[in-house]
Amino acid sequence: LPIHDAVLGAAERYGDRPALVDGVTGESVSYARLAEAVRRVAAGLAGAGVRKGDVVALFSPNTTGYPMAFYGATRAGATVTTVSSLATPGEVACQLRDSGARLLITVTPLLPTARKAADLLAAEGRPLAEIVVLDGAEGHRSLADLLATTGPAPEVEIDPGEDVAVLPYSSGTTGLPKGVMLTHRSIATNLAQCDALYRPAEGERVLAVLPFFHIYGLAALLNQPLRCGATVVVLPRFDLEQFCRTIEEQKVQALIVAPPIALALAKHPVVERFDLSSVEYLLCGAAPLDNGLASACARRLGLRHLLQGYGMTELSPVSHLISRQDPAPSPGAVGRLLPSTELRVTALDGDGTDLGPGEPGELLIRGPQVMKGYFGRPSDTAAIIDDEAWLHTGDIGYVDDRGYLHIVDRVKELIKYKGYQVAPAELEAVLLAHPEIADAAVIGVPNADGTECPKAFVVRTPGSGLGAEEVSAFVAGQVAPYKKVRAVEFVEAVPKSAAGKILRRELRAREAAR
Ligand code: ATP
Ligand code: MG
Repeated sequence: LPIHDAVLGAAERYGDRPALVDGVTGESVSYARLAEAVRRVAAGLAGAGVRKGDVVALFSPNTTGYPMAFYGATRAGATVTTVSSLATPGEVACQLRDSGARLLITVTPLLPTARKAADLLAAEGRPLAEIVVLDGAEGHRSLADLLATTGPAPEVEIDPGEDVAVLPYSSGTTGLPKGVMLTHRSIATNLAQCDALYRPAEGERVLAVLPFFHIYGLAALLNQPLRCGATVVVLPRFDLEQFCRTIEEQKVQALIVAPPIALALAKHPVVERFDLSSVEYLLCGAAPLDNGLASACARRLGLRHLLQGYGMTELSPVSHLISRQDPAPSPGAVGRLLPSTELRVTALDGDGTDLGPGEPGELLIRGPQVMKGYFGRPSDTAAIIDDEAWLHTGDIGYVDDRGYLHIVDRVKELIKYKGYQVAPAELEAVLLAHPEIADAAVIGVPNADGTECPKAFVVRTPGSGLGAEEVSAFVAGQVAPYKKVRAVEFVEAVPKSAAGKILRRELRAREAAR
């Protein structure tokens, strides 16, 4: 099925139940209204000249209009390229150029950035056809205009296995972001694969603060809950106080987050001021979540379940999940393999032999959720998907004897200290266990002997007088000698991406610039 049908096919059945609630204003949109809005937006976009196969860029923070624009565009036959709402004019222009988008949908606060990006493209002789401003702006078509469209939605033939529904760009954590071609089928299949292990219940209230423009937010906060008849409470950005207030006011039951939010929930004093007892479970993914932190978070919120998932943009995006029915998942695990998905763990050194349980190696995944390829980059595609259709994830992990996957870190992030390899994620977890450490990141910095040694960037809790020596000694007391943190720098904040990943390349660039 095309994704708008896979997601909203049951919308009529859910009728008046709220599909979306604006977490700031409390305004809600019923399933019936959402389904009608999607039809009208599709008709409106067709009227604006959008044809099957066109690329439409969606450049917006989370709003209740986002899914109307998103599914409306796919329903009109377009491929939607989702753009980070934090992107600069140059970055937006880059994605528009790379994806070939001709129509851009945005919101008033981002219009200046959108215009600058459009000017950059116009100067290159490839002007945008139109900028739609959802909340309305002089001289631009708005969501209200699209919703006022009369007449039927266009009849578009979609080939789910071939046609690209979404062209998200990977987070760019390790390099330049690449456009990932996800077909209607790979996305819809992945939703169905997740069902066996996890799906929100009908009527369950899910808080959506992770960005819809990232594949995790798109899948876990729009596609999956809307498909299940849940209610998505939408927040435009993460502010801990507003986040907690919304949970209290809206009686939110499900939190779907990335580690920085779990960290705040586990450690920040603000949390105590709110009644978060409605929350039943928290699902965390996108980056490593230490088990100590996970337990602290679960205890503080009185959670019934703390679920994790593992995936990547190239996997539409999930391959592993902790089941909601699982009474005792292995501590620290990110999940079990989804149905119809295969996993291999292969040796990191040259020969790439298959490894057994408990042995860490590179994770290879094969299944219907694997992307069609990187857009316009056949050699990058060939470098990550081999001849037998295995996707080489670049992540290191192992499967324990109960069949749960544990992630160690990315191959690229390993610190090569003398003859050893050190995973920064492990040291970050140790650091976060210190009561006076609010956040931390570790990278390898060049050593006199030509190898690297671990350096920690540490954010202290307010008022803490923690010293570098104490930090090193704290870590040294808990890890093998070769893993010792050999340099410590105190910083105001750890650079993170919108999806919640530590931007270690930024820290490396800072180091290199010294
Ligand atoms: P780029 O590929 O552009 O460098 P990226 O890999 O960060 O960016 P995403 O596709 O958003 O882009 O992220 C996928 C990666 O996130 C995985 O390869 C893995 O390293 C990490 N990840 C996802 N889930 C987890 C998890 N539960 N635990 C640890 N790491 C995770
Ligand atoms: Mg990646």
